[in-house]
Amino acid sequence: MTEKETFFKIQSIIQKKNATLVAVSKTKTVAEIMQLYELGQRNFGENKVQELIQKHAELPKDINWHLIGHLQTNKVTQVLPLVSLIHSVDSIKLLNEIQKQALKINKQTKVLVQLLAGHEKTKYGLNFDNAEIFFNEYHHSRNKYSHVKIVGIMGMATHTTDSNIIAHEFKLLHEYFLQLKKSYFNHQNEFKECSMGMSSDYEIALNKGSTMVRIGSLLFGNRN
Ligand SMILES: *Cc1c(COP(=O)(O)O)cnc(C)c1O
Repeated sequence: MTEKETFFKIQSIIQKKNATLVAVSKTKTVAEIMQLYELGQRNFGENKVQELIQKHAELPKDINWHLIGHLQTNKVTQVLPLVSLIHSVDSIKLLNEIQKQALKINKQTKVLVQLLAGHEKTKYGLNFDNAEIFFNEYHHSRNKYSHVKIVGIMGMATHTTDSNIIAHEFKLLHEYFLQLKKSYFNHQNEFKECSMGMSSDYEIALNKGSTMVRIGSLLFGNRN
């Protein structure tokens, strides 16, 4: 298949589920991104603030940029004006900093809370226990978050090739997402995104209720 055919095939699978495709363009060139842009793709994801800033400057302004990688509090100011969604909030400290800086530039900022389903020791993301603490704290000080809006979760499965484990974890993440919507967001429609699934597992994720998939290598080829 040509790159174009691959793109339209993936896009049709995702659209059937009414989900959104975020094309993960980290390490890829501006020219490579433009090829997908010309096919109509507008949502792109980067994991590094510096790279996002550079690409944002060089590419068309109607691109929606998603920050999918870890965000340090000291980089919030730089990236905030440029992003349409931050997928990687994993602490109240970071949420507070986003609120503080978003208020300064008067921008309503949408974020997802990054959750881990497995017991894998990775650096970033909240397990369900810590997420509970996070959402309780958020709930208690709700009024102070005038400029940051939590619109859902970003879920990661354990790094494994066992698709049964992945399917199980995506199911747990989606159930937890629905529970959060009920407990903390009063079933509000604005809490609606369940960002799950990458190149190797996006079809499993879509079957388990993902509303947003983040696909890199399948679209752009392997990264070095
Ligand atoms: C790199 C990355 C992806 C995309 O990974 P692929 O396997 O290339 O599709 C998705 N989500 C996050 C958080 C990433 O860092």
